[in-house]
Amino acid sequence: MDSKVIYDVFYLLAAILFILGVKLMAHPRTARRGNMFGILGMTIAIVISIMKANEQLVSLQIFTLFVIGLCCIIGILFGAILATRVKMTEMPQLVAVFNGIGGLASVLVAGAALVVATDLSLDKNIATALSGFIGSITFIGSAVAAGKLQELKFFKKGFPLPTFLRHILNLALVCGCGWAGYSLLSASPDQAVLLYVAICGLGFILGYTLTAPIGGADMPVVIALLNSYSGIAASATGFVVGSNILIIAGSLVGASGIILTSLMCVAMNRSLLSVLFGGGKVGADVDADEVYATVKRTTAADVAMMADMAERVVIVPGYGMAVAQAQNAVSDMAAILEKRGVTVEYAIHPVAGRMPGHMNVLLAEADVDYEQLKELEEINPTFETVDLAIVLGANDVVNPEARKEGTVISGMPILDVDKAQQVVVIKRSLGPGYAGIPNPLFALDNASMLFGDGREAIQDIITALKEL
Ligand code: NDP
Repeated sequence: MDSKVIYDVFYLLAAILFILGVKLMAHPRTARRGNMFGILGMTIAIVISIMKANEQLVSLQIFTLFVIGLCCIIGILFGAILATRVKMTEMPQLVAVFNGIGGLASVLVAGAALVVATDLSLDKNIATALSGFIGSITFIGSAVAAGKLQELKFFKKGFPLPTFLRHILNLALVCGCGWAGYSLLSASPDQAVLLYVAICGLGFILGYTLTAPIGGADMPVVIALLNSYSGIAASATGFVVGSNILIIAGSLVGASGIILTSLMCVAMNRSLLSVLFGGGKVGADVDADEVYATVKRTTAADVAMMADMAERVVIVPGYGMAVAQAQNAVSDMAAILEKRGVTVEYAIHPVAGRMPGHMNVLLAEADVDYEQLKELEEINPTFETVDLAIVLGANDVVNPEARKEGTVISGMPILDVDKAQQVVVIKRSLGPGYAGIPNPLFALDNASMLFGDGREAIQDIITALKEL
């Protein structure tokens, strides 16, 4: 059989594995299997691509094969070390870095193809310009997003230009890229390389100016969008180098990223345009001491008593549960309460934590029954009948300030925890969440604070429950 047909059959197999992988990753229980399918698909794609290139170029020189092998080993080692060393709470930053590297790879591959090209065609030139433009925005945008997720001071400062001037600057950069892209379509090979460098240079700046002003409740949308950009850039690069598998894999990432972006927009009650062009919102300065003047403290023994007497307890996990790695302790506490006849549920906000599905993944790891996880729309109308809401390391997603105008989280749907009969908030201090604003929930009449690390506090409650 013709070797091209064999290669295409293997590419088709890899594409099917990618699609199955994405499907299986939609549920925490099957996600691991989905990941394995993805790894297998990618391994097939890489091996076949090398074999195909070897045949097309008659025979790759030994040195070239050695360089490819060396790069694969360096990549595998780099990925393995990062994935095993990085803490669970730093995963979102790692994902942002990987997205960015994907964007940079697209820029470099499309650029290299342009440098060695002897004759240029219109369709390839369009794809090259798009790879450079989207890839460079993805690279710098993802680096900025990783810095923001890491809460680095430099990225917290926001953007030094007023919104109006920022829009003008962005428009000028887009026009510059558009002009360079248009000129590239009919340029000679030498001019085309220079124009490509110009597109990428402007794209890098645009990546910064578009992402730096965005923060608070808009970040989840931006991260999903950058994810999709990395796929679109890869897909465009697939057209440049004539690789069907890269076009398919890139389209899958691009399409799933766009679906995630739209889900995040709905979850955050934002339009994509307002996220992209409305960044840089700063809420009015609020005096935290004033907000927290009536805060009450409680103890683990008191929380255990309240939980024991309750008929319905709802646990509201947030980023602090991930930091404290408290998911197993929470599941143990829930099991004890259930044995005593208490109904325990978990209220899951779509952007709790630092990545989509963060809480679902952690709770699945602790073997919490999926049926007990209640989404925002389902649980909100029932909070008045909740005897005790235990807020574990969540802050922005339960902040009633979102219901007011003029704050950085205005309009974001929140879990209506304040409507529960009793609320206990477990966190280490009165410090703010990701959006950086005080939370009046902590000072409500029906709320009390249990200060401490999330896991230790839950373990103390378990000890107290066992003594009752
Ligand atoms: P927040 O960031 O609002 O609050 C987390 C709270 O956890 C903090 O106030 C902190 O308080 C507490 N905490 C930290 N460590 C511990 C610990 N060891 N034990 C107990 N508590 C701890 O988290 P939420 O989940 O409520 O909200 C998510 C935020 O992240 C939203 O603003 C969202 O927009 C943003 N975001 C979400 C993304 C996503 O995809 N999900 C992506 C990017 C941003 P203290 O220090 O006092 O303990």
